[in-house]
Amino acid sequence: MSTLAIIGAGAAGLAAAIAAKRAGAGRVLLLERLPRAGKKLLVTGNGRCNFTNTDLSIEHYHGDRTFAAQVIERFGTAQAIEFFESVGVPPYVEDGRVYPKSESAAGLLDALRVAAEDCELIENFTAEKLRKIDDKWEICAGDGRKIVADALIVAAGGCASPKFGSDGSGFELFRALGYEISPLQPALVQLKVTKPSVTALKGIRVRAEVKASSGGETIHTERGEVLFTDYGLSGIPIFQVTARKPCDTVVLDFMPELSEDDLTAKLERRRAIFSAKTAEDFFAGMLHKRLGNMIFRAAGVEKLSLEVAKFDDKLLKKLAYCLKNFEFEISGRMGFDSAQVTAGGVRPRQFSPTTMESLGDRRLYAAGEVLDVHGDCGGYNLHWAWATGQIAGTAAAQAIREEK
Ligand SMILES: Cc1cc2nc3c(=O)[nH]c(=O)nc-3n(C[C@H](O)[C@H](O)[C@H](O)COP(=O)(O)OP(=O)(O)OC[C@H]3O[C@@H](n4cnc5c(N)ncnc54)[C@H](O)[C@@H]3O)c2cc1C
Repeated sequence: MSTLAIIGAGAAGLAAAIAAKRAGAGRVLLLERLPRAGKKLLVTGNGRCNFTNTDLSIEHYHGDRTFAAQVIERFGTAQAIEFFESVGVPPYVEDGRVYPKSESAAGLLDALRVAAEDCELIENFTAEKLRKIDDKWEICAGDGRKIVADALIVAAGGCASPKFGSDGSGFELFRALGYEISPLQPALVQLKVTKPSVTALKGIRVRAEVKASSGGETIHTERGEVLFTDYGLSGIPIFQVTARKPCDTVVLDFMPELSEDDLTAKLERRRAIFSAKTAEDFFAGMLHKRLGNMIFRAAGVEKLSLEVAKFDDKLLKKLAYCLKNFEFEISGRMGFDSAQVTAGGVRPRQFSPTTMESLGDRRLYAAGEVLDVHGDCGGYNLHWAWATGQIAGTAAAQAIREEK
C-alpha cells in the first residue's frame, strides 16, 4: 500500500489528511511534534475558532497574492463551509466571520480528529531532515526514527506562537532542500509605542479609527476596539495594521463619527454643562478618565485643576484636534511569541497552485502557514490552511493512486 506522510497535524495537516483519505490515499501518516494534534486550533478565535469569512476578497491576503488568489478561486467560503458540514460542523456567521455553530474550537477539533480517524497519528515526532531516495521521501526525526513515504506534505506551520507547536522548523526543512524563503516577521500582533508613554493607559479599551503610516504614506485605516497595554497598542484594528508592511506612526481618532468642527461644537456645550467643574471632570461619561487626562496633556494643559469656565475657544479646538489626531510613535512589533501568524515563508511560486506540489521536487507538497501567504484577522489564515491542505491532500492521494 502506498504511503502519504504529512508533517504537522495542525489545521492544514488535518485538512490534508482528511482530503487524502477521501481521495483514496492508502496509508496516511500524520507526523506531529507535540503529544496531541491541533493544539493551536483550541485557542483560535478566543476559543470559538473563526474558521473562514464570507468575504474572501484578495486584499485580505498578503505575501504572494497572485498565488493566493489562484488557491482561493478553487477553495472559497462555500467549499470551507461544505468541508466543515461534511465533518459534522454547521456554521454560524457573525459580521462575515464564520464560526462553528457550537462556538467551540474544541468541538471543531474533535470533529476533525474523528474525520481523520483512519489516518495514523504519530505524536512526539519532530521531523528534522528530509531526503529524497529514488522516488520516495525519507523523513528523519530528531530521535532517530525514520519514515519512508511515496508522497510528502509539509504542513508544519510558521514561527508564530511556538508554544502551540509551530517553531519555524518547517522553513528549515525547505531551506535545507534549497527552497527560497522570504524574510519572516511576526504579524497579527501588538505594536510597541515609544512616544507618548501609554503605561498609564494600560487595560483601557476604546473604540477608535486607527490610521497607520510609514514615512508619511498611509498603510492602513480601520475602525474597531483598541486596547492599551503597558508597552503599546493591541486589538483587532492594530493586528490588521501588522498584517501589512511596518509602520512608524499610528494616529487614533477617538471620535471618527464627528468632524473636528462638530466635535468642537460638542465640547462648547460640554463647557457650559461642566462650567462649575475642573478639567479632571470635563470628559466624564465621554472618555475613560485616564485617557481624558492624556488628551489634556497633549493639548498642553498640565494642571487638571484648571476650571472648565476658564477654557477658551482655542483650548476647545486643541482638545478636538487631539481627540481626532492622537499620534503615537511606533518602535516595532511584539515578537513571534505573541504573534498569531508569520508574514513571509517559503515562496509559493515554487509550487503549483492547482496541486500545491513542488515544481522542482516530485511528490513534495506544501500547505498552510509555512508558505509566504498570510491573511487579515477574520478567519483568513485558517481558511488558507484548509484550502491549501485540502488541495494538497487530494492531489497527493490522486498522484500516488495513479502511479500504483
Ligand atoms: C492565539 C491565536 C488565535 C488565532 N485565531 C485565529 C482565528 O480565529 N482565525 C484564523 O483564521 N486564524 C487564527 N489564527 C491563526 C491560525 O491558527 C494559523 O494561521 C493556522 O493554525 C495555521 O495552520 P497550519 O496548519 O499551517 O499551522 P499550525 O496550526 O501551526 O500547525 C502546524 C503543526 O505542525 C507541527 N509541527 C511543526 N514543526 C514540526 C516538525 N518539524 N515535525 C512535526 N510536526 C511539526 C506543529 O506542532 C503544529 O501542530 C490564530 C492564531 C493564534 C496563535
